[in-house]
Amino acid sequence: MRILFISDLHLYSGRPDLTRALLHFLSTTAQDCDQLYILGDLFEAWIGDDFIPDDLKPVIDALNSLSHSGCEIFFQHGNRDFLIGNQFAELTGAKLLGDSKIINLASGPALLMHGDQLCTDDLEYQALRQQLRNPQWQAAVLAKSVPERLEMAKQLRMASETHTAGKEMAIMDVNPQAVHEAMSAASTNLLIHGHTHRPAVHQLDTNKRRIVLGDWDKTGWYLEASEQGEKLVEFDLN
Ligand code: MN
Repeated sequence: MRILFISDLHLYSGRPDLTRALLHFLSTTAQDCDQLYILGDLFEAWIGDDFIPDDLKPVIDALNSLSHSGCEIFFQHGNRDFLIGNQFAELTGAKLLGDSKIINLASGPALLMHGDQLCTDDLEYQALRQQLRNPQWQAAVLAKSVPERLEMAKQLRMASETHTAGKEMAIMDVNPQAVHEAMSAASTNLLIHGHTHRPAVHQLDTNKRRIVLGDWDKTGWYLEASEQGEKLVEFDLN
């Protein structure tokens, strides 16, 4: 089994190079993999499956052809693309996962998360997260017109930038206790997540590991899991 993990590509029309890099990745590196896990924030913003920007349509098509070629694709929501829904799943062939998912790798069970739920020191963000993930709130948003939702997305992004700019780096990282509790509850020795944009393999106490996927910006990142273990890979985008 060859399993790939990516997250935090933050695709949008302002970075066509990232979209090109993903299309290249899907048609090369991911071509012979058995499973591809996208652990959130594939898109910088997502206002509903009924509005897919033209420049992102090739991504949908490429995911669809990869899943039809025999690679199972799984998607976990990030804090940007939390409105991805069943129509996206149908168009891409991806299966939507819940916020915490345990899967079996050759090295043992692994817990998968986007990672934002582990940043518990950021109380302001956690309060916002509760709202953004509330099904009633989401339904009310999806009932709004596309221009209204585009405006909302713009404001959320601006608020997020202001929020991030005024925060200490430590507050926006995962909380060690939250990591410990999540791994204990899942009974796994491995946690794989994204979100923090701090790619690393952390050796925790004894045999526990936390692998953080990297965001795609100046370079791209993926994690490969196989019988040989887990390997975090950084690569050039061009
Ligand atoms: Mn995120």
